[in-house]
Amino acid sequence: MKPSIIVHGGAWDIPVEQVDAHIKGCGHAAQTANDLLVRGASAVDAVESAVMVMEDDPIFDAGRGSVLNQSGQVEMDAIIMEGSTLRSGAVAALRHIKNPVKVARRLMEDTQFSMLAGDGALKFALSKGFDECSEEDLLVGRELEDYKVFLKTGVLQTREEFSGHPLDTVGACAIDKEGHLACATSTGGIRRKLAGRVGDSPIVGAGAYADDAIGAASSTGWGEKIMAVVLAKTAIDLLKQGNDVFGACEGSIDTLARRVDGLGGLIMVDRHGRVGYHHNTPKMAYAYSEGPSGENRAAIRR
Ligand code: ASP
Repeated sequence: MKPSIIVHGGAWDIPVEQVDAHIKGCGHAAQTANDLLVRGASAVDAVESAVMVMEDDPIFDAGRGSVLNQSGQVEMDAIIMEGSTLRSGAVAALRHIKNPVKVARRLMEDTQFSMLAGDGALKFALSKGFDECSEEDLLVGRELEDYKVFLKTGVLQTREEFSGHPLDTVGACAIDKEGHLACATSTGGIRRKLAGRVGDSPIVGAGAYADDAIGAASSTGWGEKIMAVVLAKTAIDLLKQGNDVFGACEGSIDTLARRVDGLGGLIMVDRHGRVGYHHNTPKMAYAYSEGPSGENRAAIRR
């Protein structure tokens, strides 16, 4: 079958001056993954590559560019999931590694475990040959500025902050030529979080879910609310119940808004290669290449 890929670069507000960089970053990630897929790569390879491109791009809150916690540290969460086996690998509150999604994949493929947190996750990465990087390697100026403001004011993110500020978790969903599905999500989490806070992103069913029989989904937004409605799995269940891919995205975001007053966004690919997306934040950055329709797009949705 014809492969498809969709990626997101967060669903919050995106300041006008950052719009182009978000579209470009998402477009580059989708293009990289699509090039792999058309050459016969697996969906797992495709979502890992797309997410790595965005982890390396400092415009996004993942890998380099991640936000700082209340102790001035970068702690990152990531997950990858394979729809053929329902296996997943995840890391939480991981420090000093440039590409958390790669560590998550090694965990999924090399071990019997599904999630590692903190020091254990770092030790595992180092044991697999990953390079340890410094905090400065991951830190960008805008996050340092925000941290200075936090030290002065002590103000945490409010609901208004969530809807009005850029927070750019990244994610990808793909289907390959064999019809296998995969998804991945990676984030620095939310600004000014408590040290050790883990959001929805690395939690299977909340931050991502993939099942070859149905579809694949990746979430972004206010993690505590997304966890409450298990957003990615809720969308997959809606797809299974007969909704089309856009209906499933809209229905799950509607549940997020209605049940817990949450804010967020979601991307999906169904088992036929149709892509979908929806959000209730001011904007969401995304890009896709949809095999069945031959359509390619990189945009910010308002
Ligand atoms: N969901 C992420 C978290 O709460 C943040 C985001 O998607 O921007 O950690």
